[in-house]
Amino acid sequence: MWRRDDDGNFHLEVDFARAVVSRKPVPFHLRLRQVHGARVVVYEGQEEEIGDGAITDRRGVVLGVKTADCYPIFLLSENAVGILHAGWRGSVKGIVGEGLALMHRLWGVQPESITVAFGPGICGRCYEVGEDLRRYFGAFLKPKGNGKYLLDLYEYNLRTLRRWGVERVVPPPACTYEDPLLPSHRRGDRDRLYSAVELVR
Ligand SMILES: [Zn+2]
Repeated sequence: MWRRDDDGNFHLEVDFARAVVSRKPVPFHLRLRQVHGARVVVYEGQEEEIGDGAITDRRGVVLGVKTADCYPIFLLSENAVGILHAGWRGSVKGIVGEGLALMHRLWGVQPESITVAFGPGICGRCYEVGEDLRRYFGAFLKPKGNGKYLLDLYEYNLRTLRRWGVERVVPPPACTYEDPLLPSHRRGDRDRLYSAVELVR
């Protein structure tokens, strides 16, 4: 469902919403100060707020996160949209559930009616982590044999989404670590990907 343009950016359009993952800065209405938490902000016209996700039911408002290896996760429904920043910390803290719960409570959005799209992030073949994450992820850590482990954050969040009743999921279109066009924190890049979502009608 993601489409890639000649500049290496990704686009996803559904009837009522638009999602983009851009290698160049995109102007967001709300500047999120991301702290690897699970706080999801409801956009009400504020310019800046601490949080790792944002949701809105306002049309024409562009909400976004910046990532490099962490997953941008888009919540797309007819009545509201959201964008989340999910690294291992935010995933463990349950940012996906926070976003779904808030959209349901505020606007009655049912998980079954949401399309959840993952943007590019570091994949389960590339994301090497230490033993210390075992207590958070258990069997999701796959031993590499060198004392290190591989973690698939997409699979981890996918399990959470299924538990919430989400049926439509668009998988990540690329791995930031493998794709030379995409910024990767693990590869030492300082650049970030700009992921934006907008409810269009
Ligand atoms: Zn990879």
